Amino acid sequence: MFHLPVLKNRRTLLERAEKFISDVYFTDCNLRGRLYGESCPVETIASFLTPDRITFSEASTQNFEPYEICGTFGPTWWTCWFKVSMTIPESWRGKEVHLLWESDGEGMVWRDGQPVQGLTKEGEKTSYILSECLKDEEPHSVTLYVEMACNGLFGAGQGSMIAAPDPNRMFSVQKAELAILNRDVLKLLTEFEMLVDIVKELGEGDQRGYQALFTVNEMVNVCNPFDPSSFSKAHSLARSFFNQRNGESQHTVHAMGHCHIDSAWLWPYEETIRKCGRSWVTAVGLMEKNPEFVFTCSQAQQFEWVKSWYPGLFSKIQHHVKTGQFVPVGGTWVEMDGNLPSGESMVRQFLQGQLFFNREFGMYCKEFWLPDTFGYSAQLPQIMQGCGISNFLTQKLSWNLVNTFPHNTFFWEGLDGSKVLTHFPPGNSYEMKGKVDDLVKTVKNNKDKGRANHSAALFGFGDGGGGPTQHMIDRLCLVRDTDGLPRVQMSSPSKLFSQLQADSALLCTWSGELFLELHNGTYTTQAQIKRENRQCETLLHDVEIASSLALCRNKTFVYPVEKLQQLWRLLLLNQFHDVIPGSCIGMVVEDALKYYKNIRSDGAALLWEACEALESKGSSTAVFNSLPWERHEVVQITDGTDAPVLALLRAPSVGVSPVKDTQPVTPVSVAPQTDGSVIMENGILRTVVSKDGTLASLYLIAANRETVSDGCAGNQFVIFDDVPLYWDAWDVMDYHLQTRRPVLEVVHPAQVVSSGGLRGSVSFTLRISDKSSVTQEIIMDATCPYIKFSTKVQWAESHKFLKVEFPVRVRSPNATYEIQFGHLQRPTHWNTSWDWARFEVWGHKWADLSEHNFGVALLNDSKYGYSIHQNTMTLSLLRAPKAPDATADMGTHQFTYAIMPHTSCFQDASVIQCAYNLNFPLRLIQCRPETEPWSAFSVSPSSVILETIKQAEDRKGMLVVRLYESHGGSITANLHVNIPVKEAWHCDLLERQDATRPAQITPEGISLSFKPFEIVTLLLVL
Ligand SMILES: [Zn+2]
Repeated sequence: MFHLPVLKNRRTLLERAEKFISDVYFTDCNLRGRLYGESCPVETIASFLTPDRITFSEASTQNFEPYEICGTFGPTWWTCWFKVSMTIPESWRGKEVHLLWESDGEGMVWRDGQPVQGLTKEGEKTSYILSECLKDEEPHSVTLYVEMACNGLFGAGQGSMIAAPDPNRMFSVQKAELAILNRDVLKLLTEFEMLVDIVKELGEGDQRGYQALFTVNEMVNVCNPFDPSSFSKAHSLARSFFNQRNGESQHTVHAMGHCHIDSAWLWPYEETIRKCGRSWVTAVGLMEKNPEFVFTCSQAQQFEWVKSWYPGLFSKIQHHVKTGQFVPVGGTWVEMDGNLPSGESMVRQFLQGQLFFNREFGMYCKEFWLPDTFGYSAQLPQIMQGCGISNFLTQKLSWNLVNTFPHNTFFWEGLDGSKVLTHFPPGNSYEMKGKVDDLVKTVKNNKDKGRANHSAALFGFGDGGGGPTQHMIDRLCLVRDTDGLPRVQMSSPSKLFSQLQADSALLCTWSGELFLELHNGTYTTQAQIKRENRQCETLLHDVEIASSLALCRNKTFVYPVEKLQQLWRLLLLNQFHDVIPGSCIGMVVEDALKYYKNIRSDGAALLWEACEALESKGSSTAVFNSLPWERHEVVQITDGTDAPVLALLRAPSVGVSPVKDTQPVTPVSVAPQTDGSVIMENGILRTVVSKDGTLASLYLIAANRETVSDGCAGNQFVIFDDVPLYWDAWDVMDYHLQTRRPVLEVVHPAQVVSSGGLRGSVSFTLRISDKSSVTQEIIMDATCPYIKFSTKVQWAESHKFLKVEFPVRVRSPNATYEIQFGHLQRPTHWNTSWDWARFEVWGHKWADLSEHNFGVALLNDSKYGYSIHQNTMTLSLLRAPKAPDATADMGTHQFTYAIMPHTSCFQDASVIQCAYNLNFPLRLIQCRPETEPWSAFSVSPSSVILETIKQAEDRKGMLVVRLYESHGGSITANLHVNIPVKEAWHCDLLERQDATRPAQITPEGISLSFKPFEIVTLLLVL
């Protein structure tokens, strides 16, 4: 028998097969050119353009004008509705008929008034199936609507993806026609493509790759694109290759459809609603055709949007949740930032999310799902466990710029010792395409080889939505069990995690935070958003406490359940992982600030109503303290003439006291010096403020200790060049440290504003550049152990970073930073790459640098970025990135930070309480003149902090109180309760009562035991 010659030329054989399926080359004679058969134009196409995102019923009644293919429409963010009428030729009977649609923008097909499928060229969705097998009785005349959003999957960046959007981009439809799809050609194309990819991915060192090469080569030989009868021969060659099975030990890839949709990023929130609609309706369509297909979907907020905008789609989703194909994951309201939200906000992310999933789908999520955020707080494991979640999936740490994270599957141990089983898909992506290289990478990159033999592969276009395609599913199904590749099964998170759990004996444990060595500018960018977040967190804290107390003291008071839920959800939404980090476009910033404004105004009204119910209205003024300790502070009040005056007030723990001015034992003295400096002293601290506003000295009187380093100045503003490699709003790079310049030019030298008594203060102005300046008032209050820096910055820079430094006389290898419900330490040296990669870190209300028996704390009211290197404590203040928001942070900023030297350790020096005091102002309310001071709750010892008091979700007559151990020690504490409480029960963070754990109420209070950093939640039955 004569054998056709196959020479030893791998390259030509491989490229021959590639060209056989190329959509660019040789389509006149290759297989790819036969994908579609006959085609014909659509009958008519007409359009209607609108700047608004309107409903189908509104759109369909508009006046549509004829549209010519390739005619332009726009601009960016508008919507063009198309009415497409078509008649399928009768001769196409028995054929699969598609509408082929190629256009810019993101489209949604509407049929009979219902959304049916997304159409997005970028997301490889350019056809809509009109009939799978045309029958005579089917209607041949069809009218569809296509709703075309004038933005791409990734917005409309001008010049690059993350550049600010081009407001004037125009769009067009390039193709709208009917065509016959040859299904057998499509099947064969997938087989060819996978074989070609196996040859390429397995490489020249792998004999299986050569088997693929000769198989695909022979397939080209036997396949005549113009003779469909030849296809079966090629197909059976492919089948015998793909059916050669793996050994039992092969790695298993759990393929799950996914569609990461950023709740707002390079497009506004409103467009996200339509992204969800387009992506999810397509996923539901795939489920109907592929019973095995599983789609994982996070963020309760997005489900809530779809429920109200696409109710028909939502009920289909509910059905597919029941069948196990549409799998809600994550348990949170949105995929929030993992660093910046407060502890209570983190809890509410889960509470709002899990309650939503339970209400709508009768289930709680079992895994936390946060593939795409910029670091993960060490308190998350405890919060997850408290919310019924013991598994965690992410992959972002693969983005580390310096160190490679050593695990893919491991136990993550949090601050308190809570552990969660954690999986980073080794393919390092949450938007795979089901291709061979995704599978090969998943096996190769797995850093837990031999320890974990199962991995997740999330497939589907993501970030801007889009999701999986039929083609991706076809690819994966072809290689379920093919020798040389990992085993592939369509799976779900619960299947994956139960496999990993069952086989977890050899897994390693990572303790403490998951710090992302990238995107460290997101602790500072968009300062206004950060400030609003902090202030709204404190406002809602106070509203809930005042409302809870009002509930106890006033029978007629109604707890504002719905309004509070609405405000919390707005706050939680803005904690999305591209909003609070400041990595979004200007339109999103505008929306976010609008939501904060709503929270502020409605929150203020709620607080006012609650306080009115607390104390019957009267002519006197009282002070409301929401914090669980007595406070003695200088507060600005108004006298009868409305002129602001200061008073030193005492306010009981979680309670109210009439305003009664007391006199300080030691008033503040202020002494201007001949050299222009000013000395201020309050009996605790003595400071010398130089002419230029720096602190020449900060002296802790009782300890006889100078705080400021020898020859240095405290409160030194410094500015850096801040030009990252790419991710502008996200990244500050290590090399910015080489560009440090002190801000030295004095515009107005230090001058006394408050001359002492209750308050001493000095103000000055510095010039940062010809466009930017900083004006600051340095405030020393009577009895106050810290100095406040009330700061106003006029900021009009480009790619600059403003910080303030305090070089202090402390030597310690570690600094401490507040995080959610606790604190952690990070090194102050740059010994190893893991140390210096943390040159810019995040913290909440305070950071502290202490040696034995002396330390300095740096407090703030709205900042999150810190760096403490050797003995210099630095607070990050403002950045000036230009992408994706060209005007990010331009304008006026107002913030306050404070410096607090102390003896002993920061815990015993009440640094934590002082930071709370700085953030939670005492609030003045009206009361009757005869009001007596009262306190509803207090805790002893003070290491346990009563963080939250609220009405239980869906349960009237029950309060939830949440406390945590803040010092990092085991302790038994007493919660003193001065309101009538019938019963007290332990509960989890979802407020589910633990029937085995009643809490004993005694006359001394409720005794509670805590492990270090433990969060304890109680239900109090009123
Ligand atoms: Zn994202």
